[in-house]
Amino acid sequence: MEDLRNIPLTALKGIGPSRAEMFLQVGVSNAEELLFYFPRSYLDQSRVTFIEQGLQQAKASGEEGAEVLLRARVVSDPKNFHKGRFTITNARLEDESGAIGAVWFNQPYLMKNLVKGGEYLVQGKIKRSYNRWELSSPKLQRLVEGAPILPLLPVYPLGAGLTQKILRSAVEKVLSVLEEGYDPLPAAYRQQFMPRTAALKAMHLPPSFEEAERARERLAFDELFVQQMALKQQRRRRMDQRDGVVLPGSLEKEQAMMDSLPFRLTGAQQRAWEEIREDLASKGAMNRLLQGDVGSGKTLVAFLAMYRCFLSGKQCALMAPTEVLATQHALEAEKVLEPLGMKVALLSGNVKGKERRQILEGLEQGTIHALIGTHALISDPVTWKDLGLVITDEQHRFGVRQRMALSRKGEKVNVLVMTATPIPRTLAMILYGDMDVSLIDEMPPGRTPIRTYSVDSGYDERIYRFMRKQTMEGHQVYVICALVEEEDKSKTVSEAEDELLPGHSVELRRRSEEQEEDFSEEQEELKLRSAVGYADFLQRIVFPDLKVGLLHGRMKAQEKESVMTAYARGDIQILVSTTVVEVGVNVPNATLMVVENAERFGLAQLHQLRGRVGRGEAESYCVLVSDSRSRLTRQRMKTMCDSTDGFYIAEEDLRLRGAGDIFGLRQHGLPDLKVADLYRDKLLLKEAQRLAETVLDADPDLEQMEHLGIREEMEAFWERASARERA
Ligand code: ADP
Ligand code: MG
Repeated sequence: MEDLRNIPLTALKGIGPSRAEMFLQVGVSNAEELLFYFPRSYLDQSRVTFIEQGLQQAKASGEEGAEVLLRARVVSDPKNFHKGRFTITNARLEDESGAIGAVWFNQPYLMKNLVKGGEYLVQGKIKRSYNRWELSSPKLQRLVEGAPILPLLPVYPLGAGLTQKILRSAVEKVLSVLEEGYDPLPAAYRQQFMPRTAALKAMHLPPSFEEAERARERLAFDELFVQQMALKQQRRRRMDQRDGVVLPGSLEKEQAMMDSLPFRLTGAQQRAWEEIREDLASKGAMNRLLQGDVGSGKTLVAFLAMYRCFLSGKQCALMAPTEVLATQHALEAEKVLEPLGMKVALLSGNVKGKERRQILEGLEQGTIHALIGTHALISDPVTWKDLGLVITDEQHRFGVRQRMALSRKGEKVNVLVMTATPIPRTLAMILYGDMDVSLIDEMPPGRTPIRTYSVDSGYDERIYRFMRKQTMEGHQVYVICALVEEEDKSKTVSEAEDELLPGHSVELRRRSEEQEEDFSEEQEELKLRSAVGYADFLQRIVFPDLKVGLLHGRMKAQEKESVMTAYARGDIQILVSTTVVEVGVNVPNATLMVVENAERFGLAQLHQLRGRVGRGEAESYCVLVSDSRSRLTRQRMKTMCDSTDGFYIAEEDLRLRGAGDIFGLRQHGLPDLKVADLYRDKLLLKEAQRLAETVLDADPDLEQMEHLGIREEMEAFWERASARERA
């Protein structure tokens, strides 16, 4: 394996500097990385028919035409011509049995893909047009010249000008130099799986869908195993440091604080607090995740921990991902903690000059007990007299390595991380494999669930009337758009090819009845409403008498803050925003959330967004607007309408979407999972965890010969993680 890492792509036949540059852009810089650049699906070539057969089928079916998969050569120079507003592309295709014309509408970029003499896989419909039978807008993929006919043709993810043909021939070169034998799994586990080298080969060139799946399982296991080894080793190392800052607090005073609240802690808050209290009172530094749905009352639990820290004579920090949130927390903390004798300060980008100097002095002298701010706190040169606890809120913006940086800052400081993103257990095991987890899985009493509706844009007028009604009752409205501004959506050639023949993944084949629909999903082009354009429209045309505000990520921090403040004060009735409001913003008077192009958002995100309403006494509503007809979107919308339980929604999200990348590995600074699927591979993950614990028990620092291979892969894992963090 080491050898492949040292082989630059240009050493492979057929790859020169310009192709190597394309590969670099999709993250492939050496032979090993190419080997791990896996197909996203396979095309079943057993379904290929001859042109003549296809023609006969088409003629037999009359008006309907016939859907065919062909393997044919382009035998004419393709031509573009214009007819009114249309561009029409023509080419002639031929195989051993006969020839047929193909025609495409408004895809002028195809010209660059069609080469006279080139051989293609062609998928489409043979239809009658006037007196001729022709292929109408077929999808196509260029084939490698003279390549043998494989049972399953790999279909790779493309980008940077790469084509299927370039990828297939490059991968073939790597496979031909791949040596047998290397396997990082401990010997006892090997017989359970396909051997590593065989699996790598079968991923690219599987003899059958079954073998492709067996290969995928083997590599998914390796991937999960290395990741679990890396995270668990880190956690063990932390637990071994038995010299964290101890915060004994005062049970009596803490109880008095709880008694002074206008409400009682929920059972779940109580449990979480007890777990945290135990961590703080013991010698190992706390490294705990507090997970709870929006509005479940995490902040209060954090305040209790901060109070304990103060009672133990130490300082603490509470960090939020945005200034708006930091400000909100600071206001709350002043209300709850200052009456108990704590001095709370807010440090944000806006705090400058004398005020800032005073705060920094206060921290150094210990006269300020709690500092609240954005995560600039980590990088700022803040000197503490005696830091004992660091809390970060809305954790999905903080990565694993940032967490490490944090705990280093105060030496053996206690770390509590709060997240409002409910995630499935399997994912929590990965994202927080290095932490302990507390769960608040119960809402404070008396919340009325948010009523959720899913509609298409034909309902616009009714939505406007409903918005009007809410504002007339004195309430406020959020409108979420997927885009900031209209964007140019012209495609590159390779993106176009990528769409052409999606192929049939293992997964798709299993659910063959969904296949057609997934096909149309890729083609579905829905109009996107932009925040800038829609805010303008709502203000000028629909609600000229109200104040419509605009919020998006391209605005300056100060502008954003002043819009948010105006909205929180009620000066703005309708706030049109991108997902920047997703995180923790609290405006209890907002009762209606309208999400435009809801198909664009993941379930977890929709759940977060919906959590912006339903924070006050009044009944709240969420309207999801989408014109998408895809089955996936419909299922997602149904899930949202059926449930407000974040954990249930997260499980559904995982089931429906499957891929690792979507679930925040990136935000956590963890490398993507290339083959493992956290929904399908739950059992593999458990197995990988078990093996990781066994190996670490026997050989904590991986010094034994048999573990050197894993150690190397773990090092590579952390390297990728830090590369990600830098990006
Ligand atoms: P989170 O941070 O988990 O989203 P918050 O801590 O902001 O939730 O709590 C939401 C609201 O619920 C706050 O107004 C808070 O004062 C209130 N709250 C917290 N705990 C309770 C409880 N046990 N009973 C009633 N209300 C509570
Ligand atoms: Mg919160």
